[in-house]
Amino acid sequence: MSDLSYQNKNAFDVLSETELKEVQEYCEGYKKFLDNGKTERFCVSYAVSLAEKEGFVPFVDGKKYNPGDKVYHVQKNHAAIFAVIGSESPEKGFNITAAHVDAPRLDLKPSPLYEDNGMAYFKTHYYGGVRKYQWVTRPLALCGVVCKKDGTSVNINIGSDPEDPIFMITDLLPHLAKDQSQKPLAGAFAGESLNILLGSEPEKNEEKDKIRENVLKALNQKYGITEADLLTAEITVVPAENARDLGFDRSLISAYGHDDRVCAYPCFTALLKTTAPKKTCVCVFADKEEIGSVGISGLRSDYMTNFLLALCDGYNSRVAFANSAAISSDVAAAFDPNYPEVFERRNSAFINCGPAICKYTGHGGKSGASDACPEFIAKLLGIFDEANVIYQFTELGKVDQGGGGTVSQFIADRNIEVIDIGVAMLCMHAPCEVAAKTDIYMLDRLCEAFYKNY
Ligand code: MN
Ligand code: MN
Repeated sequence: MSDLSYQNKNAFDVLSETELKEVQEYCEGYKKFLDNGKTERFCVSYAVSLAEKEGFVPFVDGKKYNPGDKVYHVQKNHAAIFAVIGSESPEKGFNITAAHVDAPRLDLKPSPLYEDNGMAYFKTHYYGGVRKYQWVTRPLALCGVVCKKDGTSVNINIGSDPEDPIFMITDLLPHLAKDQSQKPLAGAFAGESLNILLGSEPEKNEEKDKIRENVLKALNQKYGITEADLLTAEITVVPAENARDLGFDRSLISAYGHDDRVCAYPCFTALLKTTAPKKTCVCVFADKEEIGSVGISGLRSDYMTNFLLALCDGYNSRVAFANSAAISSDVAAAFDPNYPEVFERRNSAFINCGPAICKYTGHGGKSGASDACPEFIAKLLGIFDEANVIYQFTELGKVDQGGGGTVSQFIADRNIEVIDIGVAMLCMHAPCEVAAKTDIYMLDRLCEAFYKNY
C-alpha cells in the first residue's frame, strides 16, 4: 500500500504485549459493570458508587465549584451526569460524552400476574428494538424496583446469581410448529405471547388461583410486597447470563446490554482519570434512547441543558454552548461475515479496528441524522492520532437497508457540536451481544484524549 492510500488499523498490530494485558484487565472491570447494571437504574447506581470512591459528590445547583471538583447529578434514578470542573472559563466550552444506559428488554405490565392451566405467569410489554424470537427458551432474570406509598423502595434482582432460580418464556416444540414455522419472522412471535413462566406449585391453604397465590407468597416472603405493590413497580425481564469471555483467545465479550453500556463505561472510566482538565468535562448516562430519548430521563428532556447552564455559573451560556463539543457514544454495527448482504464493505466497521466514527446516522436520505462538520472531525482526528488511538469510519449497513438514530441530534439541538463514535458490535439488540475487548479499551483511550485535549 502506498503512502497515498488509507487503510484501517487493527488493534492487534498496534498494541504492545503490555497493552494487550491492560486490555484484559480493563475488561474485567467492564464485565462487573455489566453484571451490576442490567437495568439503567442499577447501572446508574453502580456508576455512582464507583464515582463516589473517586471523590465525586452530588451536584448542588447554585453552589460555587473550583477547578478539579468532581460532581454528579442523578436524574430520577434512571440517568446521570458526571462532571470534572475545568480550570478554564465555562465560556471556552464543555467537553461532553453521552452514552445511553437503557437496553432492549421486556418490562412487566402494571398488572402482570396470572395463572393458567397449572402454571403462573407474568405478562410483559417489550421495550425497544426487540427481536421477539430471540427471547424465548432462554434463562431470564427479573431486575427492578418496587416503590411503596410510604416512600421506601425494594430492589428486585433475581436470576443472575448462579444460586438463583431463573425464569423463561416457552416456545413450541418443532413437532407442533408447522403453522408457526410458515409465518414471517416478525409475526411468528406475538407481543402478547411473551409471558414469563414463574412456577407451578399450589399454595395449599387457598381455595382458588392456588399457584398464583403461591407466587404472591414467595414475593411477600422475599421482598415484603403484595400484588398492589406491583402496580407502582418498575420490573424488567433481562437475560440471566452474566458477561462472559468469548473465544479461545478471550478477545471478545458476550453479554446482555453492550448497547450502549459498552460505550458508557469507557466514557465514564476516562472521566474518572481526568483529574485536572482545562475545560469542564462531562459524561452523560442517558436513558430511554432505545425508545426515542423521550421522557424525563431521555435526552430530549432539559436535564442535561439545565445541568450545563448551572455549570456556566454566571458566564455567558450561549457562548459556552457554542464552544462545546460532544461525542455521542453509541454502538455501531460491525461487519458480520455471516450476513455480508446487509453491509457495504467499504463503509463498514470491523471488530478490533477501533472505535467506529459515524459522521451521520439516520435512514433513507440521511433522514433524522445529525451530520457532523468536517472541521470538527478533522480536529478530533488530530487529537486521536496524537494519543495513538486507532479508529475507523462507518455507516450503519447498506443504504436503504434500514438505519437508526442516537442521542446526537438532541445534543446538536442545543447548539453543541457533536459526532457519533462508538464500539462496533455483532448481533446488536440480541439478548447476548458481542463486542471486542480492544475496541472497548481503545474507546476509553479516545475519550481520555478528548476530555484532556479538545
Ligand atoms: Mn445504542
Ligand atoms: Mn440500541
